[in-house]
Amino acid sequence: MTSALPAERPRSLPDEVRRYAEAARGFMPPPEGEALFAAAAAYAQVGPVVEIGTYCGKSTIYLAAAVGQAGQFVITVDHHRGSEENQPGWEYHEPDLVDPAVGLLDTLPSFRATLAPTGLEQHVIAIIGRSADVARLWHEPVGMLFIDGGHSDAAATADYEGWAPKIALGGALAIHDVFPDPADGGQAPYRVYLRAMASGAFSEVRVTGSLRVLERVGDGIG
Ligand code: SAH
Ligand code: MG
Repeated sequence: MTSALPAERPRSLPDEVRRYAEAARGFMPPPEGEALFAAAAAYAQVGPVVEIGTYCGKSTIYLAAAVGQAGQFVITVDHHRGSEENQPGWEYHEPDLVDPAVGLLDTLPSFRATLAPTGLEQHVIAIIGRSADVARLWHEPVGMLFIDGGHSDAAATADYEGWAPKIALGGALAIHDVFPDPADGGQAPYRVYLRAMASGAFSEVRVTGSLRVLERVGDGIG
């Protein structure tokens, strides 16, 4: 079950970047962010890192800090209107992220403000759009896909079906918010994880909190 990540010079997250990441608003506990950084540093050697679910850029900081050494980019995709659970009346709604002019959530300004002082902007390409639409237009093999978008079954499944086939052999699929026990959280990312494992195309290389990293070892993504 546990094979090694691709060989890589030992690297650690610079303290300054860690401080920015931990101060950023969003949903990425520090140990999982560090694990994300390590995985991205390894798999950026295979190709670009694609993140589904930018929100305000917290996880993007960990990814961006990792890809520079390989001369790679983070492509972070979000329509910036929030997931179901970010809407008014839901558990993860943050009222100050609503754009009063249009009456809708808009996390893009916060994302820009979060990333600017980190000095990592040049490693990040932000795409504003729906994950499934962007996936249809994306043809470059992906070094690491990080799925952290909508947590409904429909959204998580669309992210997997749209993007997982684009992961290069030797690249990786990282999934956030994988909770085998329903008491810990929603089950959609866990179901995507089970599906990826059942396909035989992936081998698990890392488990940190709710973050799972699977290496692509074969064809037949089902
Ligand atoms: N990675 C972030 C958290 C992402 S929250 C962090 O570290 O804090 C999930 C994000 O997915 C939200 O910003 C939401 O707007 C986005 N999202 C949900 N469904 C989407 C879809 N179909 N296409 C693009 N983005 C989507
Ligand atoms: Mg998450």
